Amino acid sequence: MGMSGLQIYKLLPKTNCKDCGFPTCLAFAMKLAAKQADLAACPHVSEESKTALAASAAPPMRLVTLGSGDTEVKVGNETEMFRHNKTFYNPVGVFLRVQDTQSTAEIEAAVAEAMGYQVERVGITLSLSGVAVENASGDKEAFVAAIKAAQAKANGKPFIIMTEDPAAAQAGLEAAGEKTLLYAATKDNWEEMVAVAKAAGASLAVYEPEGLTPLANLAENVKGAGIEDIVLDPGTRSMPNSLALFTQIRRLALTKNFRPLGYPTIAFPGEGAESPEEEAIIAGQHIAKYGGFVVLDHFDPAVAYILLTLRLNIYTDPQKPIQVSPGMYEIGDPGPDSPLLVTTNFSLTYFSVAGEVDGSGVSSWLLITDSEGMSVLTAWAAGNFDAETVAKGAKAFDVESKVSHRKIIIPGYVAVISGELEEEMPGWEILVGPREAVDIPSYLKLWQN
Ligand code: SF4
Repeated sequence: MGMSGLQIYKLLPKTNCKDCGFPTCLAFAMKLAAKQADLAACPHVSEESKTALAASAAPPMRLVTLGSGDTEVKVGNETEMFRHNKTFYNPVGVFLRVQDTQSTAEIEAAVAEAMGYQVERVGITLSLSGVAVENASGDKEAFVAAIKAAQAKANGKPFIIMTEDPAAAQAGLEAAGEKTLLYAATKDNWEEMVAVAKAAGASLAVYEPEGLTPLANLAENVKGAGIEDIVLDPGTRSMPNSLALFTQIRRLALTKNFRPLGYPTIAFPGEGAESPEEEAIIAGQHIAKYGGFVVLDHFDPAVAYILLTLRLNIYTDPQKPIQVSPGMYEIGDPGPDSPLLVTTNFSLTYFSVAGEVDGSGVSSWLLITDSEGMSVLTAWAAGNFDAETVAKGAKAFDVESKVSHRKIIIPGYVAVISGELEEEMPGWEILVGPREAVDIPSYLKLWQN
């Protein structure tokens, strides 16, 4: 169990100097106990206290990082059981598995298609995280050749190297480079796998299907031998069992602070599925609860889009809506005679409206006001998208210099503000546009006529 806020407080300097960003040492201690602050924020803690607090200050779930730079994948370090309580931080790493029994051409084609896949949603580019290469042949040379073939098409994305043979693991890690995940250490090979992973600076997955106690024991052995970055595979593959075990692991780590299971998990949904469709469903379950790495056996752009969107939704802070910056946006090539529309800065609203305006073929100005990332009706109800806000935005972004006419189109849902807006923007004609973004093209066609 972690320390209580009061226990932590006793180990702090108690000077209330505020250097940590909190008003008192007690407030800082409470945040530390809730895992919402980092001990390093207090520069005055004694070495003795640091040692005593180390276990309590450590996150309940280890952060595991694969790769580096733009393609780095960080998994773990979660502090919540339920995303609605606060947020989940590090999105599930979604990998595609290839096997060294496939031909070089097959591996290259599969990896190129999956790693080249990108889709933009609410202004965020979504893509798969990396490649898993399995030593299905049992042959070391074939394994290395497969890793190299995959690397040539992986766009620098990180790797999971899958073998239980320490010699193949060593060769595979040498080929794959640093910050790779080695899968897997078992109760039979863990000492050799630890040595190989340590030498290569790799993270190490532990596989133990006999239950959570043996899994925790194996993780403890691996940690005791010097590996900190551990990933857990409890060996379960079916939907209900996976849900139960992954939930227990998360709960023990977070609510009981049970360190031996305080690591991210890895899942192989294809191994519990009878079809690619079922694999997609199980993968969705793991993205929601509580996968760290999810390794797919099939790639289909339609499935990838669904899974990556699900991941985006779950790993978005519910207290901070995804927003775009307020401003005056050009859709197409607008001029002084082009329509001027206004809406809120909630990303989904912006991209829906911008997409429909773009699709209409009528170049337009789009004024985005600061509505704290809320959609139109929510923002209006909260007082963040009223006549004053719109008028303020129009002034701040100097709409008068952009258009020669004096007409502004407001969303149909806030028709009620048109009277007030006329008062706030004297000389302007307030036009009430459609309620739904999908009706914007036909509305703008009228503007042209
Ligand atoms: Fe207390 Fe340290 Fe924060 Fe100062 S920086 S208020 S000593 S916890």
